[in-house]
Amino acid sequence: MASPAKQDQRTSRKRVAVVGAGVSGLAAAYKLKAHGFNVTVLEADGRAGGKLRSVSYNGLIWDEGANTMTESEPEVQCLFDDLGLREKQQFPISQSKRYIVRNGLPVLVPTDPITLIKSNILSTKSKFQIILEPFLWKKYNTSKVSEDDTDESVGGFFQRHFGKEVVDYLIDPIVAGTSAGDPDSLSMSHSFPELWNIEKRFGSILAGLVLSKLSTKKENRGVRNGTTGKRKPTRGSFSFQNGMQTLTDTLSKELGEDVLKLRSEVLSLSYNAGKSASQNWSLTYSSDRNSKNLIADADAVIMTAPVCNVREMKFMKGGIPFPLNFLPEVAYMPLSVMITTFRKESVKRPLEGFGVLVPSLEQQNGLRTLGTLFSSMMFPNRASNDEYLYTTFIGGSRNRELAKSSTDELKQIVTSDLRQLLGVEGEPTFVNHFYWSKAFPLYGRNYDSVMKAIETMEKSLPGFFYAGNHRDGLSVGKSIASGCKAADLVISYLESSTDQPCAEQQELKK
Ligand SMILES: Cc1cc2nc3c(=O)[nH]c(=O)nc-3n(C[C@H](O)[C@H](O)[C@H](O)COP(=O)(O)OP(=O)(O)OC[C@H]3O[C@@H](n4cnc5c(N)ncnc54)[C@H](O)[C@@H]3O)c2cc1C
Repeated sequence: MASPAKQDQRTSRKRVAVVGAGVSGLAAAYKLKAHGFNVTVLEADGRAGGKLRSVSYNGLIWDEGANTMTESEPEVQCLFDDLGLREKQQFPISQSKRYIVRNGLPVLVPTDPITLIKSNILSTKSKFQIILEPFLWKKYNTSKVSEDDTDESVGGFFQRHFGKEVVDYLIDPIVAGTSAGDPDSLSMSHSFPELWNIEKRFGSILAGLVLSKLSTKKENRGVRNGTTGKRKPTRGSFSFQNGMQTLTDTLSKELGEDVLKLRSEVLSLSYNAGKSASQNWSLTYSSDRNSKNLIADADAVIMTAPVCNVREMKFMKGGIPFPLNFLPEVAYMPLSVMITTFRKESVKRPLEGFGVLVPSLEQQNGLRTLGTLFSSMMFPNRASNDEYLYTTFIGGSRNRELAKSSTDELKQIVTSDLRQLLGVEGEPTFVNHFYWSKAFPLYGRNYDSVMKAIETMEKSLPGFFYAGNHRDGLSVGKSIASGCKAADLVISYLESSTDQPCAEQQELKK
């Protein structure tokens, strides 16, 4: 391995522009800066963090974007260790207590076969269908695939393995709660790539999960014996003191004001092949419509802005326009996030745990929200001792129009659902409303075309790399891993291409 001093000599002249200061862009920039590169992060908004957005107000703390994350990805574990974030992590009280509504009321989600058998969340037929899945699962009928939907849906996949009731009462609320999508529209291979691959390897999902868990256990035994460097991931979801934005605030602070440029919307990017890979990129950005700034000498670009924003940017290659007409439109899920607080004595049936999800079918029982997190139950200091703070989600593909409703209308809807589910009485003592017009990209059944277009951009534009939640998964952990992977690609691209002619670099990218 090169010594840091040598590494610096090789890389200090290299400049990388990162577009977007969401968690993926910040993680990429942090890694590149640590590696000795000269990094500039350009962020259109007046704040860093993107979909991580925490608010402290009047003794309350809440999140308007992501509320929790996991650290299954090794890149996340490394980042937390480097940033010293471990002591700021907050793990929810009653991590495993999660509820799903059935017949208008919350039912505890079973976490093992015994509680599944005792639970009334599913009929006896579905319980048997789950237990017997290794013998009863059906193969995917590829003749059913249409030209528009090139991939199997999440609903279709789980129905083949566990039956329709499992899709309606477990999969539907889970995908609504994690992506605001619905089982019929979502692509299985893009939404749950791990399970998609398990089916390919083992056929049965249950048997595959058991077998891959056994092999992970073997690996972990290796870790304890010191035979591999991998750390065992912490289980479950968590947040941070003062909310999820603590993560992006820490990254922003580490990067510093010289690196992170807020109110800097990237308008155009231009690639001009020189004799070597250096300084081939220039970017224009603007803080308002009247001024334009220029970065004229970047060696590589990591793009983490959503695809809808990339489609608005102008690209040039060799002095002529490089139209992005091959980059398909992505569908986005609109979502309203409502924060409400109630005095404890006004909540007649408070539930301890993480939160409650509402299946689409429960709309027939008058429920209109997607789900509610019991935020002040999960984490200390999110509200005063005599009140509960709830975070409720409305909209998604189930109810796009409802997401756009006024704060007053949404307050009525949330209060009515919480009255039915938790027995709240009267009005909330505090209300906050945040509307995301494009909360999540929909990994639809033709999402392959988006991935292929991103790959085409990368192949056609040497030194251009795309990362973030439109590529490697929707979660915070996956977005971090995506940013770190892009940083690694930039590092090897620039290190290996130093002083090499451009044609060779293009070969390298292939
Ligand atoms: C309401 C909500 C709840 C969620 N809950 C969870 C959860 O509980 N757990 C979980 O794991 N995940 C959750 N997620 C998903 C997760 O937060 C995101 O997928 C992740 O944070 C995306 O990070 P990113 O960096 O890829 O993209 P973003 O955060 O979208 O960052 C992209 C950045 O690019 C900037 N940008 C756009 N155009 C330009 C331009 N022209 N020039 C410069 N900058 C530009 C944007 O302003 C933005 O800051 C949630 C998301 C939402 C919206």
